[in-house]
Amino acid sequence: DPELSAADPEIFALIEQEDARQRDSLRLIASENYVSKAVLAATGSSLTNKYAEGYPGKRYYEGMDFVDPIESLAVARARELFGADHANVQPYSGSPANLAALLALCQTGDTIMGLALPAGGHLTHGWKVSATGIYYKAVQYGVRRDDHRIDMDEVRSLALANRPKLIWVGHSAYPRQLDFAGFAAIAREVGAYLAADIAHIAGLVAGGAHPSPVPHADVITTTTHKTLRGPRGGLILSKAEHAAAIDKAVFPGLQGGPHCHTTAAKAVAFREALQPSFRDYAHQIVANARGLAEALLARGHALVSGGTDNHLLLLDLTPTGQGGRHVARVLNRCGIELNANAIPFDPRKPFDPSGLRIGLAAITSRGVQTHHMPAVADLIADAIALAIENADDARCEAHRGRVREFLRAFPAPGL
Ligand code: PLP
Repeated sequence: DPELSAADPEIFALIEQEDARQRDSLRLIASENYVSKAVLAATGSSLTNKYAEGYPGKRYYEGMDFVDPIESLAVARARELFGADHANVQPYSGSPANLAALLALCQTGDTIMGLALPAGGHLTHGWKVSATGIYYKAVQYGVRRDDHRIDMDEVRSLALANRPKLIWVGHSAYPRQLDFAGFAAIAREVGAYLAADIAHIAGLVAGGAHPSPVPHADVITTTTHKTLRGPRGGLILSKAEHAAAIDKAVFPGLQGGPHCHTTAAKAVAFREALQPSFRDYAHQIVANARGLAEALLARGHALVSGGTDNHLLLLDLTPTGQGGRHVARVLNRCGIELNANAIPFDPRKPFDPSGLRIGLAAITSRGVQTHHMPAVADLIADAIALAIENADDARCEAHRGRVREFLRAFPAPGL
């Protein structure tokens, strides 16, 4: 943008470099994606100038002629996309969406349950350093030691023993399908609300590549920027009976004015996700993840739970004797971007855990297909080998060249 380059050459240059970095690296961070130019355009629009506290038809400011229909379109599209009774498109991001769900359905001090962070859960599901673990009495469930799957018997016995007001089902780093019906049965048995946080898998749910929690959960929260491929933001879906409480919790309970530019970009992303091509995209993500899992296993690597049903894998570095942080850093120098991640029952510290989290949503947006997965696995496994050897800059730079060469056939959307 010539205006930005003239007004602020420093920021302009840094954004240009970030564009190039996103074009030239193999982006495998499981919570990231490439949005379309249309989503970027809505995000960078005049709507960033607008205040709109309240909801369409009930605002505290004037000048809502165009902001109201934009938010109404976003709501209608979100409801259609997920088949939900109610949608609130105002949450600033996933964490505020989760706080709003708790504010709507619980009192502080109530007992809540969620998947523990080290087992793949999210901070906001009651982890001790999160407001959700400070203001609520949080009980955390885990995964089984033998197969790394959520243990529904444990969930049920913890629920029966603790009688939570609300149970979270959802994850940030769990490679298997979630049994929403099973969670709903447990929640019903103990009189708890069921809240599904589909931040990671929202695009898979929207595209029919993962079962939907909509028939089972009271409230569903999500981010809009991961597999759903929209702007950074949050979304809450709910059954009709919770609509008023959710809206009141988001505004005025937790937030002030909604970010109208983000609302418009969410509407654009929901429209994209309603197209038949998005179903293909969602299924391709899962096929790519399965293909990459097979290829990495064939290269001798270990995977948490032995594979994947969704968009992510957790590679267990324990057999290599390496810590996740060192390997993730070397991979970054090699042009492969991912994050070190705890594995279940991790013997290492959270800041330098034993795993690597690998997500397929972003490279699938570039058009990478299942038959490319052996090549992607080679790029990853060869870079891990460089980390094990403590390779010098020249070898990492050569690997970076290989990554760039591979990506040449797959233009990055939006950039
Ligand atoms: N819920 C889950 C399951 C997540 O993975 C994340 C993102 O990391 C969030 C909530 C929080 O989203 P945000 O980072 O937008 O606050």
